[in-house]
Amino acid sequence: MKSKLSRIAAATIAASAMVLTAGPSAHAQVAQDRVPTFAEFKAATFQDVGGQYVVNGDEVIADTQALRDYYDRMVAKPKSSQENGLVVNTVGGVDDKWSASQARNLTYCVSTAFGSDYNAVVSAMSQGAGIWESASSGVNFIYVPSADSNCTVSNNSVLFSVEPTNTNQYIARAFFPSTSDSQRNVLVNSTSLQNSGSWTPGNILGHELGHALGFRHEHTRPEAGTCFEDNNWRPLTPYDSASIMHYPQCNGSSADLSFTATDGDGVRAIYGG
Ligand SMILES: [Zn+2]
Repeated sequence: MKSKLSRIAAATIAASAMVLTAGPSAHAQVAQDRVPTFAEFKAATFQDVGGQYVVNGDEVIADTQALRDYYDRMVAKPKSSQENGLVVNTVGGVDDKWSASQARNLTYCVSTAFGSDYNAVVSAMSQGAGIWESASSGVNFIYVPSADSNCTVSNNSVLFSVEPTNTNQYIARAFFPSTSDSQRNVLVNSTSLQNSGSWTPGNILGHELGHALGFRHEHTRPEAGTCFEDNNWRPLTPYDSASIMHYPQCNGSSADLSFTATDGDGVRAIYGG
């Protein structure tokens, strides 16, 4: 039995390719038996063109200092009270969430740079947003198409941008409420988005928007038995192996990233009914 520390580190490094490489191979990668040094961890962590690091498959870290902080938290001793779905990200022990007024006004644009895939991404974003909006009246994503022709993190007429990426390191990746304004985008490989088998484009972007609302991967909970990430989260519901935030390849019980009744309980616990 490997120590928790080694599982943490190995799972996190392996997870960087997980969203795309669903299947048995993802498990096979979690086989490292020691904690990597920060230099090794940094070298193994994918960097987007903007310099941000991508961890846990599809979550973004702003820069090298923030990556160092993340690494230090990851290898630190776990807190004792993690036994008790949906889990909200925490920063310094405080829930990472939007204010009630901001949660009802989550504005976004979809870049016209998606070209021939633009309409498909617009549609998938609408579906992904609708998943959460249907479960909680406290959540409202607002599409601002007038910003689409200049849809970048620099466009201050929207809270976040949805932009294309050509990387094959992930299908899509998102941000958390605590992410700085200049890093607040959802990057999407629109080819992969539309060719991921049982993972529909709407469910994939629904998963990403779960991160944008503050939710972590459900499989970081000890009940999953694999894919542990870190302890910077707070449980909102009992463990749910079928959660939209649970990678199927991490001992999940649902193959299609669909939204569950427990996910609904979780989002209402944070943003109300
Ligand atoms: Zn994710």
